[in-house]
Amino acid sequence: MANPGNSFSQLVETCSSGGGEALPNPLSGHPRYEKVGDLGKGSQGFVLLCSDKFTGERVAIKFLRRGLASSEKIRRELLNMRPFWHAHVIQFYEVFLTDLYVCIVMEYAPGGSLSHYLAKNVLTEDVARFFFQQLIFAVRYCHHMKVANRDIKLENTLLDADRKLLKLCDFGLSKDNNDSMCKTRVGTPNYLAPEIINMRKGGTYDGKACDVWACGVMLYVMLFRSFPFERPEDRGLDPKVAMLSLMERIVKGDWNVPKESNMSAGALDLLGRILEPVAEKRITVEGIINHPWYQIHLPPGADKPNYPKRPEEGLQTVESIVEILMEANNTDEMMMG
Ligand code: AMP
Repeated sequence: MANPGNSFSQLVETCSSGGGEALPNPLSGHPRYEKVGDLGKGSQGFVLLCSDKFTGERVAIKFLRRGLASSEKIRRELLNMRPFWHAHVIQFYEVFLTDLYVCIVMEYAPGGSLSHYLAKNVLTEDVARFFFQQLIFAVRYCHHMKVANRDIKLENTLLDADRKLLKLCDFGLSKDNNDSMCKTRVGTPNYLAPEIINMRKGGTYDGKACDVWACGVMLYVMLFRSFPFERPEDRGLDPKVAMLSLMERIVKGDWNVPKESNMSAGALDLLGRILEPVAEKRITVEGIINHPWYQIHLPPGADKPNYPKRPEEGLQTVESIVEILMEANNTDEMMMG
């Protein structure tokens, strides 16, 4: 079936987190941080660009409304992110409370998200590979740390000031390995793996294989500027019907290469191995790294994992984080009761 490109600006509009109006400033009078600007809205809260008054450092702070956001989700996000120490993963700094919000302070990525970058730039195959290589390194690291992100998408992939270094963010849906298989249907429709859609009540799926699938969707979008399972004819449909068609195509693995594409056979071969609907047959992260197309222009030694442990010194302790979340929770109960 033909799959001509959707207009990419439309794609960004539908995915974009930003609205027109300015985001609130819950930091007025805060002893350490002050608001500098707005960064975006997510499904759970909003993110501000802030300045650390003591160090002058720019940081991003995510604000999750106490009482509305699930405390279990926040706990998972914080405890999963806390030990991360990798060039391609946004670093957690600390968490604190205001009257209304749980505030997560993290490394600021000044280059915006990959979705915004793609709205303004057409990527060559080489540039798409360059970003994809970094994405896969980030995912390999997270999996090494026993965390599946489960919401890998363009909006959660940020860039540094030079727009060269890619950093994965948002571990709000992440899952650690304590019970290795996932049971809940989470994610963003265009990036959902078939096994998530197909899962029956009481069933499970492997979050890591789903992360690999989402990376395949990202690669497709970077190469072709459209989503692999969307079709232009869906646009006029009732949203529920359009969603159903999307899910059906995902489950069948019904994607194709746009006619006008001149992407290399290597890129298409790798894409086919990632967007494999049967999870057990899908290529693994290691398989991707060893794929000849992935290896092109890879700096020598870059594929050898080197994961130093994040120093504990100066890092908020797990106990302190848990205590802060319990305090947020107590207030939740008071607010609700
Ligand atoms: P989230 O709630 O994590 O999905 O974030 C919402 C939006 O805020 C993202 O799509 C980004 O555009 C922006 N954002 C989140 N974290 C950061 C960060 N660390 N640096 C810069 N922008 C960010």
